[in-house]
Amino acid sequence: MRAKLARALFIALLLPVTALAAEIIIVSGDPPGVGFNDPTPAAPIGGNPGTTVGEQARNVFQAAAEQWGARLQSKQPILVISFFVPLTPCTPTSGVLGAAGAEWYFSDIPPAKGGKALAAGTWYPAALAEKITRQDIVADPDDPFEIFSVFNSNLGIGTCLTGNGWYYGLDHNEPANRIDLLAVVLHEFGHGLGFSVGPTNSSTGVRAGTPPLPSIWESFMLDMSTQKRWLDMTNAERAASARNNWNLVWAGQHGSNVVPSVLDFRTEVRAVNPALGVNEAQSAQFGSSLQNGVASLVVAPNDGGGTQLGCTPFPANSGAAGKIVLMNRGTCTFTTKVFNAQAAGAVAAIVANNVPEGFPTMAGVDTRIVIPSVGITQALGTALRGGLPNTYVELQRNPKIRAGTNANYPRLYAPSAFAQGSSVSHWDVTGTPNLLMEPFINTDLTGSVKNPDDLTWNLFNDLGW
Ligand SMILES: [Zn+2]
Repeated sequence: MRAKLARALFIALLLPVTALAAEIIIVSGDPPGVGFNDPTPAAPIGGNPGTTVGEQARNVFQAAAEQWGARLQSKQPILVISFFVPLTPCTPTSGVLGAAGAEWYFSDIPPAKGGKALAAGTWYPAALAEKITRQDIVADPDDPFEIFSVFNSNLGIGTCLTGNGWYYGLDHNEPANRIDLLAVVLHEFGHGLGFSVGPTNSSTGVRAGTPPLPSIWESFMLDMSTQKRWLDMTNAERAASARNNWNLVWAGQHGSNVVPSVLDFRTEVRAVNPALGVNEAQSAQFGSSLQNGVASLVVAPNDGGGTQLGCTPFPANSGAAGKIVLMNRGTCTFTTKVFNAQAAGAVAAIVANNVPEGFPTMAGVDTRIVIPSVGITQALGTALRGGLPNTYVELQRNPKIRAGTNANYPRLYAPSAFAQGSSVSHWDVTGTPNLLMEPFINTDLTGSVKNPDDLTWNLFNDLGW
C-alpha cells in the first residue's frame, strides 16, 4: 500500500509551524551530520539566512510547510517525516530528486464532532481523512506521521547530476547549475497531502484492501477515449488508461474550472505543405512568444558540423535567412540550437523530438534569443522533412484550446511507456506554463500552488481539502 522506509533513530521535532490554517510539522529523520544536521558552513542565499547547509535545509522545509499550511484548512496537525538519503537512479544527466506519499490511507472512518463523513468505501490519504473527519486517526505512537518524504542527499556528488547541487534560496531564483529545493519540497509535500492515485496500483490498476477499495483520486480520473472514470473501470481498463497518452484527464470541477486562468493557449504547427492540418506543439521557454504567428518555408540545412542538430553555427550559404529552420533534438541544448538558427537569419525554429512520444520540452534561458521556437513530435518532424524543399508551415497559438488539456480538462501524465513513480499521479508535461506537479522539475516554477499560477490547490478542493 505504501513504501515503508527504514527509520533512523535520530528523530527530532523541528519547525513547528503555528498560526496557520493547517499546522504542518516537519520531523527530521536524519542522523547527525546529514541533511537537516549537515554542519557544513554556508553563506546566506536567496532570502535564506541559514549559516550551515543543515540550517538552510530546515528553513526551506519550513517555508514549504508554511506555504501549504496557509492554503489548506485543517484542525489536525500534519506530521511529515523527512529524510535526506541517497536516491537512485541518479546519473550525470537525470536523477530522482525526492519522493513522498501519505504514510497511511484510511477508509470508512466515522466523523468526530464537527467533522464530515468520508465517501463510503474509499481510501483517503491520512492528512485529508483527518481534516474531513476532524480527528487524529493515526494512533500508532511508533509511526504517528501523516506524510513521509525523502530527498536525494547525493545531488551533485560524484556521478549523480554532476555539478548540480541543491539551491537553498527561498526565491526560486536558482542559477543554471542548481536545483530549487523549495520547489521540490512543495512538490513532494503535494504528493503526501493527496496528489496521488494512492494505494491503487497505477500500473496494474489493482486496488488495495480486502475487499479492494478505490482511492478518492479515482473519482476524478476520466479517460477521454472510453469516457469512463477510473472509479468505474476494471483493473485491465485502468492499466490501459494509465498508458493512454494525452487522454487521461482530471475531471474535477475545481481543478478544471480554473484552467483558463492558469494555462496558456496551446501552440500549434499548421502544416500547409505537406497538408497535414493542425498539429499540437510546445513553445520554448525562451525567445519571443507566438502571439501573432509566423508563417514561412521550412529549411533543414546541415550545420557547420555536418548534422541537422544545429549544435554548431550554420554556414553562410545555409539558406536559413528568412525561413523557419527545422532541427533534430539531441547532443546540445535547445538554446544552442535556436541561437544558431537565429544567427543564420531564421525567423523561427522547430525542434523535432528524437523519441517517438511527446514533444521536446524546450527549457533553457538565453536572453540573446528573440525568435520564437517550438518543439514537435518526431513523426511530424519526419513528415515535414518529407515535403522539403516545399514545406510551408504556420506556427500559431490556438485561440480557444489551452495547452495541456483535452476537452478543457487538464491532462494527467500517462505516457504509453509506463513510468514507475511518474505515470498517473502527475500533471502531463504539455501544460504551459509548467505546473508544480509535473513529473520533472522546471526552472519557471513560481512556488505558488494555486490559480492563477498553478492548478494543484484547485485539484485538492475536488478531493475535499
Ligand atoms: Zn512527483
